Amino acid sequence: MPFEREVLDVDVIFVGAGPASLVGALHLQKLLAAKGQADTSIAIIEKGREVHSHALSGAVFIPRAIRELYPDFDTICPIPKAEVTKDSVYFLTEKSKLKFPITPPPLQNHGSYVLSLQNLVAWLGQKVEEAGINLFPSFPGAELLYENDAVVGVRTRDQGIDKEGKEKANYTPGVDIRAKVTVLGEGPRGTLAKTLIDKKGLQNGRSPQVYAIGVKEVWEAPHQREGEVLHTMGFPLDTRTMGGGFLYFMPDNLVSLGLIIGLDYQDPFLDPHHELQRLKAHPLIREILMGGKMISYGAKTIPEAGLYAMPQMYTDGCLLIGDTAGFQNVMKLKGIHLAMKSGMLAAETIVTALEQNDFSEAALSDYEQRFKKSWAYDEMRKGRNFHQGWEHGLIPAMFNAGLQFLTNGWGFKERKHFAAGHTHMRKVADYYGEQRRDDKYASLVFDRTLTFDKVTDVFNAYNLHDENQPPHLLVADYDLCSERCTVEYGNPCRHFCPANVYEMVEEHGKPQLHLNPSNCVHCKTCDIMDPYQIITWVPPEGGSGPNYKNL
Ligand code: SF4
Repeated sequence: MPFEREVLDVDVIFVGAGPASLVGALHLQKLLAAKGQADTSIAIIEKGREVHSHALSGAVFIPRAIRELYPDFDTICPIPKAEVTKDSVYFLTEKSKLKFPITPPPLQNHGSYVLSLQNLVAWLGQKVEEAGINLFPSFPGAELLYENDAVVGVRTRDQGIDKEGKEKANYTPGVDIRAKVTVLGEGPRGTLAKTLIDKKGLQNGRSPQVYAIGVKEVWEAPHQREGEVLHTMGFPLDTRTMGGGFLYFMPDNLVSLGLIIGLDYQDPFLDPHHELQRLKAHPLIREILMGGKMISYGAKTIPEAGLYAMPQMYTDGCLLIGDTAGFQNVMKLKGIHLAMKSGMLAAETIVTALEQNDFSEAALSDYEQRFKKSWAYDEMRKGRNFHQGWEHGLIPAMFNAGLQFLTNGWGFKERKHFAAGHTHMRKVADYYGEQRRDDKYASLVFDRTLTFDKVTDVFNAYNLHDENQPPHLLVADYDLCSERCTVEYGNPCRHFCPANVYEMVEEHGKPQLHLNPSNCVHCKTCDIMDPYQIITWVPPEGGSGPNYKNL
């Protein structure tokens, strides 16, 4: 019997159930219902076990886009959320702190909410189901379907294949979900989006996306500071490295704390997880966490380069939204509201495309036009040169940010062209000279009360991966790792991975790369930051990965 794959026909498929897709689908459904076309079929697939399993953000949430969808959002959304009551920014040195007398305007958050993105996504997931939209968790998109070079849907990943590629007893082939429009909201460095962008040249003439990694813990720590937002600069990062820390005081005595580091750093031994542990040891932070308990850990990447690194967001039969398309207000460190707005703009484009039965690139280019006329564009335009301003380190970046504020985004100069983040990593000999520093973190103590090693932290990501499945981290050349990378970059994957997936193990007299894929928290840092670009992250079986709580 020839093998037949199940085919499901829908009108619109969203890939990835982040805020962009969920709000986009809800807006689409609402617009169609108003036109008497509520029978249009919309589906969302999500790789996580539950709709919110992989959702992670700071988060200070600007409710601007969601109020366009739900004007009564503030009263109908029942999740714990605290209105921001106070903002402060500190410059830290190892032992001391200096509070900024005035919080820079981009970091003023009055009118926003401190909340958990997870809870928000879970609530949106309920709204989606109430609206009759098909939501399929545990269904990763494996590849895009094409017809005459136009995207016509997505094939979900086969389930029940062993690590040798053989079918197991629970084998279930992936489903071909055919759609008039496929909307990619896969988050940063989306797997399908990456292949599509390459195939269609959607990044041509634009700068490559530059990312940051955010590493985060949530603590139960008694406090009376609900709604307070605190940002830090300086320690533990050196002045050449872009990034900073955050502490958000959530309801229910939860504290969200994290560190964001630009993935265009130079030091091959820099370890974002370890830097977060160093940040916690600072007296300002330690005092807040004292007596508390870490309950959750996770990491994610963030598209940081802004307007000039956004790909063409439309092609025949397909739109890119949210982090996948680079929606981010880098100056304000906020992307959720922009992701939601992108989903809504995509929805409005789709309504017109459905009416005209035209899903060509020309018809879908309406999405970019709508974006350019929206407040989302105005907001991103003001921060368009922010990331580039870090090129020469912290001090010029601060002046550039201030000047940007006064020059409507211009800063010192317009910087449309820049290089991908991994190209900034320097070789060990170049960065450290003769004094190789494999022991960069030798003095870091993991006391398991305040500071934790990666394995302990990953335990609090509630990870689940069936070990007997094909690898989801594809390393193109293991010899390069043990021979060239060891010498040139000191195998930086051991450091930039926040989940201890990559290890070098001595075998037959030389270091060999060893992987622990079941630790992976799906942050995609390895796909982005590997200096040789030989690591490709693909989604593992549906339902694999972290099952974040309160992140
Ligand atoms: Fe992130 Fe890659 Fe490590 Fe997974 S293996 S946690 S995607 S860096």
